[in-house]
Amino acid sequence: MTLDVAWAQRWARESAAAITAARDELVELDRQIGDGDHGENLKRGFQAVVAKLDSIDVAPELVSDVLKTVATTLMSSVGGASGPLYGTAFLRAAKVSGLATLDAHAVVALLEGALEGITARGKAAPGEKTMVDAWGPAVDAAVAAADAGATPVEVLEAAARAASAGATQTTGLVATKGRASYLGERSIGHEDPGAASSALILQAAVTAARG
Ligand code: ADP
Ligand code: MG
Ligand code: MG
Repeated sequence: MTLDVAWAQRWARESAAAITAARDELVELDRQIGDGDHGENLKRGFQAVVAKLDSIDVAPELVSDVLKTVATTLMSSVGGASGPLYGTAFLRAAKVSGLATLDAHAVVALLEGALEGITARGKAAPGEKTMVDAWGPAVDAAVAAADAGATPVEVLEAAARAASAGATQTTGLVATKGRASYLGERSIGHEDPGAASSALILQAAVTAARG
């Protein structure tokens, strides 16, 4: 399976489907350590992305064209902390994806771009119980997979697996960034909603790659 423009479009649509299916779960996670809006914010944002993709007449030629649309739509339609964070992630990912198809190296660059966008915007370090704790392990796993000669889809699979494990591990962490940091130690025992949604979005990239 080639990671091309059609894949990028499927990624956006699969993300919307996954986030919509997990809406209540994400709301509940954010209710535990935040203000309970993450699932709804993100669902609305990704539904706006799908509507935007449906309304574009000119077929996108590059992966970056699709990722830019995702970025600008999320930025303008998702409120709270996660809108600008995801918006910047997809914008930086787009910057390094001005290609018709992605090889393993380009997949790594895309993921690194996304992580850089999130850290540039939110200034969170690993271990602060944020979406960085999903994207960071995803990048590390992608680099290792690409170095070991994995195919582009295998690189994505490694990234998604690591993101999912990273998100699960945020349960044991104390939040020191974002709204959850107001709870201090009481944030322990709850998975970070942004890390959870990040894992879903990366898993959607794998689903999209399976056709
Ligand atoms: P809000 O907290 O404004 O209601 P959301 O509920 O949509 O925004 O998103 C919360 C998520 O945003 C958190 O679970 C966390 O993953 C992420 N987040 C918050 N602040 C930061 C930050 N500074 N850096 C990285 N991620 C962050
Ligand atoms: Mg919230
Ligand atoms: Mg909010």
